[in-house]
Amino acid sequence: MPTTANETPVPDHYRLLGVAPRATDAQIKAAYRKLSRVYHPDAQGGSPLAEDCFKQIAGAYAELADPARRLNYDRMLMLRDPLRLVDDPRAERALDVLDTVVTRLRKRQAALPSTGQGRDLRVEHPLPFTKAMLGGRTSVRAEFTVACTQCRGAGTTEPERNPVCHVCQGQGTLKTGLRRHDARCGFCSGRGLLLLSACKGCAGSGQVATHQDVDVHVPIRCRDGAHLRVRGGGEVVAGGKPGDLVVVVRLQPHPFLRAEGDDLVCQVPLTWSDAVAGGRVPVPTLDGTQWLTVPPGTPPGREFRIGGHGLPISSNPNGTAKRGSLRVQVFIDMPSELGPSQIAAVLALEAQLGAQRFARAVAYRAAVGTPESGSGDA
Ligand SMILES: [Zn+2]
Ligand SMILES: [Zn+2]
Repeated sequence: MPTTANETPVPDHYRLLGVAPRATDAQIKAAYRKLSRVYHPDAQGGSPLAEDCFKQIAGAYAELADPARRLNYDRMLMLRDPLRLVDDPRAERALDVLDTVVTRLRKRQAALPSTGQGRDLRVEHPLPFTKAMLGGRTSVRAEFTVACTQCRGAGTTEPERNPVCHVCQGQGTLKTGLRRHDARCGFCSGRGLLLLSACKGCAGSGQVATHQDVDVHVPIRCRDGAHLRVRGGGEVVAGGKPGDLVVVVRLQPHPFLRAEGDDLVCQVPLTWSDAVAGGRVPVPTLDGTQWLTVPPGTPPGREFRIGGHGLPISSNPNGTAKRGSLRVQVFIDMPSELGPSQIAAVLALEAQLGAQRFARAVAYRAAVGTPESGSGDA
């Protein structure tokens, strides 16, 4: 079965014990003893990772120490990975890496990149309608990770307590399959060493989460989905150039205002008395709530235009940019489910007003006429 570089095969028993597949019983036993001294939970102060490693090693040893079971296992391994049983010169010295812990780790730390280019970060940012229309500045949080300062990215501050992986001999990968692909080592998860003593600052990951609040310029009439790029607002790397921050605008719609060309449109409900007697109704604008005076006898559908409260037409640093209008369109909030006495009161009022007060309705009905008898409702 072909294996890709991303797969993590469980290492075979010989690899787990750090011996060649043709190792003698005595060599296998000696390897098991040596590994027990490193991974036995008693030797590692109860590290859960050590316990897990030891279980794998002890399981492999139990199978290889029994001649009948070893024979069966070799047959299975032959089928699974035929080239594994060919001599592997590195296997002879696999366990030597257990003695090279400190030097290996120092090399690893030295190899950490200290310069380079930080990555660009992309952040979706909800933007209130007013800010998006008028433009201005907003603060956006950029989150990223940096190398842990406590362990300098190595994942541990006690290198001597973290053995180099003998299974992959610190490489993090194992040759496997017929084409000897590099697959991630399943014993150390590709790390190359076993973090039995992980750094307390980063829990062994070598990285810590951090953030910075970036001041972002919002242009006027900013649209939903707009990309606002801030040079140097992205990932920060030690000794390197920071990446950019790309803010993807998620425009929060206004509950009452919508843009139409250079204008804003607002639908405002009136009560009967507002429409009949006139009055003042509050109107939301980009600049705060304002009063609108409605004259007596205002019909539904009438539009009131408030100049200078629409969208900015050009960007002006002095805040005196020309602006469109706010168009307020009124409608009557018609009450429903009136009771019989309320309906009687309305009919009485209409009768008192007389037909001449409903001149348009009377003229309309006269012009249209009435349906011929027999034809029902349209
Ligand atoms: Zn750390
Ligand atoms: Zn490994």
